[in-house]
Amino acid sequence: MRAKTFLVDSYQRTIRDLRISVTDRCNFRCLYCLPETEAAANFYRSRWNQNPGIPIHHQWKPKHEILSFEEIERTAQIAVACGIEKIRLTGGEPLLRQNIATLIQKLARIPGIRDLAMTTNGFLFPKYAIELREAGLHRVSFSLDSFDKDNFKRLTGVQGLAKVTRSVQLAKELGFDPIKVNAVIIRDINDHEIEGLCQYALDEQISVRFIEFMPLDSSKAWQNEHVFSGNKILARLQKKFDLTPTQSANASETAKRWQINGAKGEVGIIAPVTEPFCGHCNRLRLTSDGQIRTCLFSLHEHDLKPLLRGKASDEDIAAHLQSIVYKKEAGHKIGREDFVQPTRTMSCIGG
Ligand code: SAM
Ligand code: SF4
Repeated sequence: MRAKTFLVDSYQRTIRDLRISVTDRCNFRCLYCLPETEAAANFYRSRWNQNPGIPIHHQWKPKHEILSFEEIERTAQIAVACGIEKIRLTGGEPLLRQNIATLIQKLARIPGIRDLAMTTNGFLFPKYAIELREAGLHRVSFSLDSFDKDNFKRLTGVQGLAKVTRSVQLAKELGFDPIKVNAVIIRDINDHEIEGLCQYALDEQISVRFIEFMPLDSSKAWQNEHVFSGNKILARLQKKFDLTPTQSANASETAKRWQINGAKGEVGIIAPVTEPFCGHCNRLRLTSDGQIRTCLFSLHEHDLKPLLRGKASDEDIAAHLQSIVYKKEAGHKIGREDFVQPTRTMSCIGG
């Protein structure tokens, strides 16, 4: 490709961060994402008098609709030539994608990527950890919403706490740095675990991010009352820990961050519902079936497959990406009367 053609939207935000979902499939059924377990149905029904429907089996995308590694690599190369510096692989569960290390190897070779990361539920991590490291993955974030094995099962549908904590240990041993755990906090489900999760991160010298529950679950059961706000999370943490705010050089950072008593890791709070950070958003998403999304809450997607599978040149695709990005939404509308939840769920979009 020739001269750099940056991805800039009509609000002058330059896009630097690309989230690539490599599969829509998942081996977990998180209550806030794919609430398709009896525990999830019971939770929404009993506490909130809601019935998100009987558990259903998600319809995964057929294989021919899923981008090949070559298609993902090409898109990433073009995006990097347009100024993307960070790539995060996500899903569904990215470790369910066969030979994922091969894709990482391809992406790690692209000059210009400063940061190559993955978000995973960690269940399969021990099986692939060494391959991932050798392939060139820089960082890994694990989703860990509970430190109590029964609550973990209720939240994820899987008895997997020991596996995930083992994965965190292994990631440390293999030198992934920084390591983060992400915890989605839901009122009356795991808000009592905020301090414990923070203490775990402190003890392990890793970082923890607390995330507000967003309306992106497959059953559309989300209600504002389920949200345990970033402010409340902070207030709870401040009662137990000595937190010093960390200044970020990066305005597009989603998390507000704090240091705890000189510990290695940090605490971050991501509050997209109560404190939207859309004004500084520098993200773009590519779904596993080749749709470009300019916002988690976009109601429209842009299919790259016809270009990738047709005769479009890299320049054509770069120009297409630019025109899509230019129309990036000002921000999401959660909490407003005109908010519409996207049809696709977090597991399909890629968090
Ligand atoms: N399966 C992997 C995992 O769970 O880490 C990667 C995909 S998952 C969709 C990416 C992130 O989105 C996870 O950290 C998860 O906790 C978060 N997430 C999923 N649904 C969410 C929701 N409704 N609100 C807030 N965060 C959510
Ligand atoms: Fe949970 Fe991630 Fe799977 Fe969603 S995609 S159900 S957050 S493990």
